[in-house]
Amino acid sequence: MVQVLTGHGCFGEYLHRVARREPTTRCHHCDGDRDTAQHTLEVCPAWEERRRVLMEEVGEDLSLPAVVKAMVGSREAWCEMVSFCEYVIAQKEAAERERENNPDSAAVRRRRRRGRGAGAWIP
Ligand SMILES: [Zn+2]
Repeated sequence: MVQVLTGHGCFGEYLHRVARREPTTRCHHCDGDRDTAQHTLEVCPAWEERRRVLMEEVGEDLSLPAVVKAMVGSREAWCEMVSFCEYVIAQKEAAERERENNPDSAAVRRRRRRGRGAGAWIP
């Protein structure tokens, strides 16, 4: 849940711009070219089913202020948000591990690393 609330985690934008572990900011679960916490929570079609369940407790507005307000106002909303985040992040982390184990994407990362200098690399 902290990853979704802070945007620091398994999101294309963070992995590209901050952790420098991805060549682009794109979403690996849809055609979106910018995967952020908000994309994951509100937009990405990959999580539509779980999002519907979440919206039953949290409401239609999945902007961060609205979600936090709903979470602190209702135990059910809190639990549903935890459940949504745990499910989605587990899927995204599994997909990231798969990409890292793929020799082709590893080659892309090594090439990029040489281009940018070793200091930009976080293991
Ligand atoms: Zn997406």
